[in-house]
Amino acid sequence: MTNSQQKTATPNTDIPGGVIQRVTGPLVRANGMSQAKLYEVVKVSDEKLLGEIIELHGDEAAIQVYEETAGIGPGDVVYRTGRTMSVALAPGLLTSIYDGVQRPLQKIEEAAGNCFIKRGIEADAVDMSKKWKFNAVVKVGDIVVEGDVLGEVQETSVIVHKIMVPPGEGGKVASIQTGDFSVTEEIAKLTRADDSVASITMLQYWPIRKARPKARKIFPSEPLRTGGRSIDTFFPIAKGGAGSIPGPFGAGKTVTQQGIAKYCDAEIIVYIGCGERGNEMTEVLTEFPHLIDPNTGEPLMKRTILIANTSNMPVAAREASVYTGITIAEYYRDMGYNVALMADSTSRWAEAMREISGRLEEMPGEEGYPAYLSSRTAEFYERAGVVKALGSDGRVGSLTVIGAVSPPGGDLSEPVSQATLRVTKTFWSLDSDLAYKKHFPSINWLTSYSLYAPNFEEFWAKEVAPDFSEIRKIAMTLLEKESKLLEIVRLVGMESLSNSDRLVLKVAGMIREDFLFQDAFDPEDAYTPLQNQYGLLKSITNFYEAGQVVVTKPDFDFSNFANMKTLAEFQNLKENYTATPEDYQSYQERARLEISALA
Ligand code: ADP
Repeated sequence: MTNSQQKTATPNTDIPGGVIQRVTGPLVRANGMSQAKLYEVVKVSDEKLLGEIIELHGDEAAIQVYEETAGIGPGDVVYRTGRTMSVALAPGLLTSIYDGVQRPLQKIEEAAGNCFIKRGIEADAVDMSKKWKFNAVVKVGDIVVEGDVLGEVQETSVIVHKIMVPPGEGGKVASIQTGDFSVTEEIAKLTRADDSVASITMLQYWPIRKARPKARKIFPSEPLRTGGRSIDTFFPIAKGGAGSIPGPFGAGKTVTQQGIAKYCDAEIIVYIGCGERGNEMTEVLTEFPHLIDPNTGEPLMKRTILIANTSNMPVAAREASVYTGITIAEYYRDMGYNVALMADSTSRWAEAMREISGRLEEMPGEEGYPAYLSSRTAEFYERAGVVKALGSDGRVGSLTVIGAVSPPGGDLSEPVSQATLRVTKTFWSLDSDLAYKKHFPSINWLTSYSLYAPNFEEFWAKEVAPDFSEIRKIAMTLLEKESKLLEIVRLVGMESLSNSDRLVLKVAGMIREDFLFQDAFDPEDAYTPLQNQYGLLKSITNFYEAGQVVVTKPDFDFSNFANMKTLAEFQNLKENYTATPEDYQSYQERARLEISALA
């Protein structure tokens, strides 16, 4: 995008364009729009409601309006802006709470004079007057290309914001200086190859529907550490991966997503509350600003951007909120950060697509969703990835995308779940039966999967333990065996089982209750480092290995296990959140000795 385009992104003059013919909910049809372009931002009526052209036929435009359209009618004017729907990218994004179209909620409230948001309010996404200390890292005469870092700004106490040459720009640095600047003041001049001059500010705009460019994608080989035992050990997601959390109402999607946002080892978090009930978003909005980041000891908001778009806001804004969030996330990825984006819930976005498509009178696909549901979903998740960013320093950043899906009745065969499953490689299947039994997180260990797990073998062997992968597989196999054995028990009773089978049931029970069960509301239990996850799980599989030897001895009495001292001790070990690898090892040795003495 050229600099002149950037400047027009917040125009002062709106050009009268066409006249409204028809209004149906969030969709407005206007004619006299032959000069307009597809996806151009428009202001509807003299109330200047924000809208976007989503279809153009000759001089008739279909406009999706991001605000309530009551009271708007035929004859009202539509103003053109000449720009596409874009986000402002500059220091000041972090700690912000936005609505779906990047208006800071606090500023809208100030402009409205009360907490009831009026229509047509315009508010800058970042503070345009605030002075930031810009530290130049290149000097006059240097040659820079798109993506190169020109300088840095300490955006919050934990994050350094890199000011990058906008995509499509580059040349010789003609002027640059360290100093205090607002985001709209010039910080550098570049002389382009054709001798024209580009004026660079700290503010860039980027169209939300277009993925930001990168040098190339890199194979994801490192897991995102979330502290969730079920996630990290059994169903890990890659830094730069795409994952989905489908689950019926009340199964724990929001709690799981919020847990990841709080504890994962991404440096930047973008949390999109898309069409969820207002009270759930209120929880996020009131809770997040008080949370302390366990990795830095600083408030979590210093590395977070919240986008709040609740179910009572106009449906069209749901789509905008998803794209706005992912574009901001890509921008920080381009600086070389690991970014994690959570969208809760993408089903609400799909419903908005369905509503707009219906009003456009498009041919409906399955269950009334538009035929392009799959391609839109894929385009969104494909923006995840580990990338080598533009620029000559070879920065690598990642964007992990985790989307919640709320299938009605938990039925995964419905179109939104299916479209999501096709493009995400980690699948945390939340199970209402488990939630009902208060087994949390209710991630079903039999139906969930992670296609990334094989990529992490090397990482685990190096960073955790050489046998981590093996332990993990043993544990997963035990859980599968357990489900088959429980079928048999249901049919013919426990007596029919051999001691070996009973041991499988016992150990699988430990895996479920002592390892997979994790209370998100207990601050100590909510986060388990990978090393401790390994220590705990190995202590359980160690029990199985040692037990296998003794249970097959003639006349072995299974009830011997019940009185084991080390089994009681295991509960203490589990709650010892500062246990070291040596603590686990010494426990495992004692347990082995005690078990072999049983027979
Ligand atoms: P959903 O978003 O799927 O509708 P929520 O995330 O709001 O469901 O979870 C519903 C309830 O389940 C929560 O209010 C909480 O009581 C409980 N819950 C979910 N996950 C956990 C967890 N990991 N630990 C403890 N309680 C949980």
